[in-house]
Amino acid sequence: MTIGWHFDNTYSKLSNTFKEEVKPTPVHNPELVVLNDQLAKDLNLDFSKIEKKDLSQIFSGNTLPKGSTTIAQAYAGHQFGHFTMLGDGRAVLLGEHLVNNTNRYDVQFKGSGRTSFSRSGDGRAVLGPMLREYIISEAIHALKIPTTRSLAVVKTGEKVVRENLLPGAILTRVASSHIRVGTFQYIAAKQNIDDLNTLVDYTINRHYPEIQSSKNKALDLLNLVMERQCKLVVNWMRVGFIHGVMNTDNMTISGETIDYGPCAFMDHYNPKTVFSSIDQLGRYSFSNQPPITKWNLSRFAECLIPLIDKNEDKAIQLATEIIDNFQNIYEEKWLNMMRDKLGLFGKSKDDKKLIDDLLSWMEKNKADYTNTFCYLMNIKIGNNSLYNDKDFINWSNEWQNRISINDNSKEKSLELMKETNPVIIPRNHKVEEALKAANEDNLEVMNKMLSKFDNPYDEQKDIEDYQLPSLDDNYQTFCGT
Ligand code: AMP
Ligand code: MG
Repeated sequence: MTIGWHFDNTYSKLSNTFKEEVKPTPVHNPELVVLNDQLAKDLNLDFSKIEKKDLSQIFSGNTLPKGSTTIAQAYAGHQFGHFTMLGDGRAVLLGEHLVNNTNRYDVQFKGSGRTSFSRSGDGRAVLGPMLREYIISEAIHALKIPTTRSLAVVKTGEKVVRENLLPGAILTRVASSHIRVGTFQYIAAKQNIDDLNTLVDYTINRHYPEIQSSKNKALDLLNLVMERQCKLVVNWMRVGFIHGVMNTDNMTISGETIDYGPCAFMDHYNPKTVFSSIDQLGRYSFSNQPPITKWNLSRFAECLIPLIDKNEDKAIQLATEIIDNFQNIYEEKWLNMMRDKLGLFGKSKDDKKLIDDLLSWMEKNKADYTNTFCYLMNIKIGNNSLYNDKDFINWSNEWQNRISINDNSKEKSLELMKETNPVIIPRNHKVEEALKAANEDNLEVMNKMLSKFDNPYDEQKDIEDYQLPSLDDNYQTFCGT
């Protein structure tokens, strides 16, 4: 009965500045809610011969796998602009699982009890938000966007005190690493240059080995992280995803989406969309995601200054040149992504205007972001009378003209659009429906939804229900704790 764990833990070998050794707090009566068979397979793990009660013990942390060395990782973060020393206050890293001896994945329990970083928190998590992270992270993965993954969720059998008593849960999260911008901020705040060098080398070995022997590793790291985070945010903009809490502790150095708290997908197009109840000023609204990515990267750059050049002024100048380039890199990537959404090959000087005109029309007419691109791909959903609007028809004619100058066939255009535009996204009301049922011990709604989201770019049978936008314009999300 071997599961196939292959732990090779490197982060836990770093000095105590980086982490605290801590075990998950055992839970009373764990019960497995969901296990991600496909992800297990991809990780070369086989749970098929393990009984459910034993799986519940494993994924609650009551029995720890051989080879794990559990730690809570230290990090800091700018939360809504304010700097705080943080750390895993309700999570432990089990270790790094190797797949085929080459691919390294962090395996982490979230909701596993108090650590020295818990501050006033109870170290626990609630079933609803953990299942929400499971659903949305897996959907983001299926949408071909880099993300942490969800391997399992268990109920702990214990109640957690929030606004009322709620069922406790633990999520098993898998990530290419949990190194965040905030990890660098924590180490930089300690002002120990050796530790900072250690973190830079560790990160480069793990994520950017191509610059291992470069002359200015810190500067090259900044460049590469900017490239990855830029790609990530362009992907979010492509599918209408709003992360909701882009604090620097929630931005990975690997460029994976992490920490699914108040995130949600936008229905009708409005760049100012915010779902998070605590984001009163719209700091993390849909259209603010790119400038916030740049802001977070500037905080990352600040951490690296002592390593970029001995002369501080020169170091700041070099880092600033890179950060100043963010806008150009982002705009080019965004424009190319929007061209793909519209099936446009090559470049024409009027592309930006064509795209902006469509977005303005969508905003003015409260058109659904996902479904408008479906309409353009000839996938008609529900009542399409909106698209009889004269302005839309005029725009559509211009779009057709632009397509006709493509150096490619109409079929190729459609193919490109179909690879870029999802047919379904996890719409807020459908996610809520699945969570409500799961809270009442009915997992069918969630499992059906998860199966549809395996292939979000395909026109599948019985998906009409997932295509219609919510009628509720005032949907709000809450920081999942
Ligand atoms: P998050 O909002 O999940 O990104 O968490 C921000 C910080 O608060 C991190 O340091 C978490 O570990 C910590 N935290 C969140 N919830 C809890 C909790 N229930 N108990 C202890 N720490 C928590
Ligand atoms: Mg976080």
